[in-house]
Amino acid sequence: MNKTLEYEEEVRTGSLTKCPFCGEDIAFTTLTNWDAPVPFFYSNLGNDVALRKSDIKRVDEYFLSGKKSLPELEELWNKIVNSLPPAPDGGKFELWSNVKCPHCKTEIPYNKGVRDINIRIWDPHIILIDGAVVLDDTFEDSWRVKVKVVQGDDKAN
Ligand SMILES: [Zn+2]
Repeated sequence: MNKTLEYEEEVRTGSLTKCPFCGEDIAFTTLTNWDAPVPFFYSNLGNDVALRKSDIKRVDEYFLSGKKSLPELEELWNKIVNSLPPAPDGGKFELWSNVKCPHCKTEIPYNKGVRDINIRIWDPHIILIDGAVVLDDTFEDSWRVKVKVVQGDDKAN
């Protein structure tokens, strides 16, 4: 497992935002889960994200049982995050970890630092910073994002 294999790169279009701490440009793209809640977790060290089909299946099975309780979902999210392998960037996937500026490494606090479990579980947007690995169950299904910045659209610089 722990070989120096390189993850397959996938190009996604994205945009630039300025780091609120150092002012450098951060290239990112967003994955939106139309079937939220989908469990995903950021590394506490870098920007790698765990997004595994097996975890999505676990959540689907929970909903198929007809239940929908926030405390049970929180328990499930905690179980999932505790079952994850180390992040490819060497960090640990954590519930409240968030993306970091690739230049100054400062973490942008999740939900402005307000830890609202309801918002966290139902969050449909996964922010992918250029270079982050999206970790699935297998190495073959995992990939590294390459952000291709497109100007215009929603951003007026
Ligand atoms: Zn920065």
